[in-house]
Amino acid sequence: MKIFCIGRNYVDHVKELNNVIPDAPVIFMKPDTALLKDEEPFYHPAFSQDIHHEVELVIRINRVGKKIQKEFASKYYKEIGLGIDFTARDVQAQQKAKGLPWEIAKGFDGSAPIGEFISVENIKDLKNLNFSLTKNGTMVQQGNSSLMMYSFDDIIHYISQYFTLKVGDLIYTGTPAGVGKVEIGDVLEGFIEGEKMLHCEVK
Ligand code: ZN
Repeated sequence: MKIFCIGRNYVDHVKELNNVIPDAPVIFMKPDTALLKDEEPFYHPAFSQDIHHEVELVIRINRVGKKIQKEFASKYYKEIGLGIDFTARDVQAQQKAKGLPWEIAKGFDGSAPIGEFISVENIKDLKNLNFSLTKNGTMVQQGNSSLMMYSFDDIIHYISQYFTLKVGDLIYTGTPAGVGKVEIGDVLEGFIEGEKMLHCEVK
């Protein structure tokens, strides 16, 4: 399976990192060894002093497709969940400064915790979905899918021009503002519409 991530999909987060608003979705990938399931803890890597949490809505692909037209894109996912795109911000800054790829800052082991999924049939309005992240019980990130520059369907259309989507592939759809550093001992919890979907302890 493949893990796709979308960068710079919420204007408020683009601004907090002083990045440029993209004219097409920014795509990067993580290997399957990045995935953390079933509330497995995240072991803070020694190579970074600045690991950031990025909470994101995640869709799971449920059928094979390539070059998917936007009007059919919603047929390619039936479940939505919450994940964290852990980012070694210090390493990423070095890579960006050198114009090099981000993989070591984004795709390292355990960098993609994933929580529970819910059926999209149980969601009233996918274009108006609230989600949030708490750190040690304090709210640190709040987002709403209405604020995405590229919708789930836009993203599926775009990715599938380049990559065949397969059953089980995950797409992390970008983070809102409020990203910040995690320390050993922190507990992160993610919510969709107030329902707890994800729990991740930093060890
Ligand atoms: Zn992200």
